Amino acid sequence: KRILVTGGTGFIGQSLCQKLIAEGHILTVLSRQPAPDVQSVCGRVEAVNDLEKLRDHEGFHAVINLAGEGIADKRWSESRKQELRDSRIALTNQLVDVIRSWQTLPPVLVSGSAVGFYGDQGSRRVTEDTPPNDEFTHRLCSDWEQAALRLEPDGVRVCLSRTGVVAGPGGGFLQRMLPPFKLGLGGRLGSGEQYMPWVHRDDVVAALIWMMDNEGARGAYNVVSPNPVTNRQFTKCLAGVLGRPAIFPVPAPVLKVALGEMSRLLLTGQMAIPERLEAEGFEFRFPDLSPALADAVGY
Ligand code: NDP
Repeated sequence: KRILVTGGTGFIGQSLCQKLIAEGHILTVLSRQPAPDVQSVCGRVEAVNDLEKLRDHEGFHAVINLAGEGIADKRWSESRKQELRDSRIALTNQLVDVIRSWQTLPPVLVSGSAVGFYGDQGSRRVTEDTPPNDEFTHRLCSDWEQAALRLEPDGVRVCLSRTGVVAGPGGGFLQRMLPPFKLGLGGRLGSGEQYMPWVHRDDVVAALIWMMDNEGARGAYNVVSPNPVTNRQFTKCLAGVLGRPAIFPVPAPVLKVALGEMSRLLLTGQMAIPERLEAEGFEFRFPDLSPALADAVGY
């Protein structure tokens, strides 16, 4: 298949591109980076740096849309919030416009979203049907999803990946957490009772490909492991995998002062369940946290 990927150079995207190439697909990656840099992380792909250049690039069998500024990279000032929105919603709207200009539409668009769609849900079990709590991450994800869903009336199957907290080697949130934990200076965040709907990167990649290939799949899927844990359980498990103590909790007020509104990413959460993926037959390679973390940190 010929597949167009946005966000292909990212933590999830690199792994996705490598897997798709191994499966024999031919990839075009939209990236702001020079082609050699894209190829050095994605493998043998065609790199395109401007969406408008794709108008005469017809014939894709699928589009996978993952681009977006890092949600946890900088404090959420009003201008940063706008960047987070534009790099997802404006880009997806532009992508949909370009796709619509093609004579032959791709049968499927798999587009990104996150469990942040639901906002803070306390310890409630969260399926794809759970009503969201209105906050910044909800509006960000909801508008991003709506932009992708604009292709549905054109007969394109649209799948949305409401991705959890992704654990995998060499990147993501774990890379930031590891240094203190390796020194034995890790600990729970706030009360530690907030849920962390974690998922291994291999399962994210497999779920994205499953959505692309499975003609019966459409709409939103929670892409999270079937076993969500609290931050306290996560902390204990990570410390156990590393063979280090984790006895230095970080109090919630410290995180609130240091990170502002962004501290909600760490102090709130969702006990999200992959209800639809499991009901529709998707099988997880890493359903349990301990082997997933051991693989992700290389222990
Ligand atoms: P990364 O931050 O690693 O990569 C995102 C990619 O998006 C980058 O490689 C970059 O590509 C592109 N990008 C960034 N900013 C812009 C911009 N302003 N305009 C255009 N493109 C931009 O993300 P992940 O791989 O971790 O995640 C992929 C998607 O999944 C993201 O949208 C993220 O929000 C979402 N997600 C990730 C989770 C996680 O735990 N990792 C959890 C839930 C959702 P380039 O530099 O080549 O242009």
